[in-house]
Amino acid sequence: MLPENGRSAADLLAELAALKEADLPVHGGKVTAYVYDTGRAEIRDAAARAYMEMLEVNCLDPTAFPSIVELEKQVVGAVASKLGGGPATPGIFTNGGTESIMLAVKSARDARPVARPRLVVPATAHPAFHKAAHYLGLDLVTVPVDTTTFRVDPAAMEAAVDEDAANTVLVVVSAPSYPQGVIDPVPEVAALAAARGIPCHVDACVGGWLLPWLRDAGEDVPPFDLSVPGVTSISCDLHKYGYAPKGASVVLYADEALRRHAYFASAAWPGYTVINSTVQSSKGAGPLGGAWATMQALGESGYRRLAADSAAAARKIIAGVADIPGLRVLGDPAASLVAIASDDPSLDVFVLSDKARDHGWLIQPQLSFPGIPANVHLTLTGVSLGGVDALLSVLAKAAAEARESGPPALPDGLVDALLDLDLDTVDDAGFAALLSSVGADPAGGPGGMAVVNSVLDALPPQTRESLLIRFLSSLYRAFD
Ligand SMILES: *Cc1c(COP(=O)(O)O)cnc(C)c1O
Repeated sequence: MLPENGRSAADLLAELAALKEADLPVHGGKVTAYVYDTGRAEIRDAAARAYMEMLEVNCLDPTAFPSIVELEKQVVGAVASKLGGGPATPGIFTNGGTESIMLAVKSARDARPVARPRLVVPATAHPAFHKAAHYLGLDLVTVPVDTTTFRVDPAAMEAAVDEDAANTVLVVVSAPSYPQGVIDPVPEVAALAAARGIPCHVDACVGGWLLPWLRDAGEDVPPFDLSVPGVTSISCDLHKYGYAPKGASVVLYADEALRRHAYFASAAWPGYTVINSTVQSSKGAGPLGGAWATMQALGESGYRRLAADSAAAARKIIAGVADIPGLRVLGDPAASLVAIASDDPSLDVFVLSDKARDHGWLIQPQLSFPGIPANVHLTLTGVSLGGVDALLSVLAKAAAEARESGPPALPDGLVDALLDLDLDTVDDAGFAALLSSVGADPAGGPGGMAVVNSVLDALPPQTRESLLIRFLSSLYRAFD
């Protein structure tokens, strides 16, 4: 219910501040997922002011607001210049990696209409490809990755493509993949796709604005961008290692015809004509202004420094984890995403994550997957280097505590009961009871996510998905 009379801004901001007290901190580096922090207040300030300046501008009509065309050209041009393109490289500013991927998949689908379009991706490819396939009506084919390097094997990709090359409209690789932070063999996969006339998308959502700066800082970075023959599109999130406020990503295309297939126009109604470059139609220009300002405020030297610091933090973590009994890093991370598994059955990584949370750090759990053990994931950013010793000591402490308390005890028979459960017939009260039985009461349970994660971990992906969807709907619903 709205108040009868409007409230003052001061009153509203006080309420927001109070609501945010339960949130994780977005600055400081203790949350090693979701947030990317330069640690520099003046950069954030420039972005926030530019965001506000563009607040009411509507990207719906670029002829009414030419400022957005100029800003987008500058942002896309800067990204193209670092990702193997040039001033003429076509691209689109989008509101996130998922949207960039959605558009890359749409372009590929519409560039070559076939009866049953299929999309071939490594198992480690981001769920945004599953979502794009789902929304856009493609068949998704996943190819298992090597269980030591976590990179996809080009021969396995080739075999998957050749099961139905005529209907395969797009092949995908990641640079790097999120789960283990490793770079797929981009040149090999792009070449096999090109040999068949199939486009190849590089998902550089997380790495696209990190790897080029690492290369400039003198690190060895394998070829992964538009300069690689056969790569036809690439996505790069500015709201990750671009350190822009959320809602900022770019998709680049090797040629203009592909970009045009991302666009949508409609004159088939009696209202204003619609021309959209992205999924949304009316949309705020704040994220574009914020991204542009962040990039201009940081400059090349700013990004080189942040990239070098993130990579240095990752190296310290990798070296330090080797000294923590029971823990090991998965694969050979290419940049600053690090996945850590346990090789001691008494040391449960989900419990470790909870213990770290008790010490004020968010360490993201990742469920097991065929050939890949459950693990925890760190996204190290520019601000991480300063806190790297604290993070290592929290990891060591949390590991020792997790071993001490042992793996979580799952309620007897719960996993079997969940496997048999028909979620469509469970009412809200029944689902709430189920959640509280595993300590995941949306109204605020005893804390501790280890039981929830262990239960999910024991279930097949489809059951996990159904439960998660039911959980989300319960979260946004009043129970009493
Ligand atoms: C984050 C990410 C995405 C999706 O990006 P959103 O901005 O969350 O929509 C896609 N691919 C990779 C590798 C990512 O890390």
